Amino acid sequence: MKQLRLILLVFGALILCSTASAEQIKTVKKMDRHRPDNPYYSRVDTMKLNLPDGVWKKVLSPEVYAVARKKQTEQAFSGKLWDYNEKGTYYCAACGNALFRSDAKFASTCGWPSFFETVRKGSVTYLPDRSYGMVRTEALCGRCGAHLGHLFDDGPPPTGKRFCMNSVVLEFEPDKPGAKKGH
Ligand code: FE
Repeated sequence: MKQLRLILLVFGALILCSTASAEQIKTVKKMDRHRPDNPYYSRVDTMKLNLPDGVWKKVLSPEVYAVARKKQTEQAFSGKLWDYNEKGTYYCAACGNALFRSDAKFASTCGWPSFFETVRKGSVTYLPDRSYGMVRTEALCGRCGAHLGHLFDDGPPPTGKRFCMNSVVLEFEPDKPGAKKGH
């Protein structure tokens, strides 16, 4: 009898645990942005994506695809964010990965949105880029590998870095009034 009570107790605890995690999942899903056109988009999932080009071509707009997957560069002073100064977070337009906070953005004269640091370690990854006869560092989304722009060493303090980004692959989300600073 004592054993049976123990088994029932363990079962009860297990059910409680599974309910809690199901609730957590529900909360995360509710917080996340649902994109019927892009099932890989998530602002909470940081798991790396390794998808073939054909999949990205289907789920991204032609403008985002051209920069994110074909490494094109938007014209200087043409993007929506180079001269934009609202408070909030910048996400990867291809996959929803958080990339930069507005307080790391600075007024650069180059005509592209520029930041001196990323929102967290690993949110951006780097590759040497020797295209067009130049030696540069390519900056890519740490989650989906989208081309974002380049990293230069002529930024302001405290890092001295300049993340020179294409507006079209960034998505801006303003801070909610009174909300704690995200990420
Ligand atoms: Fe991404």
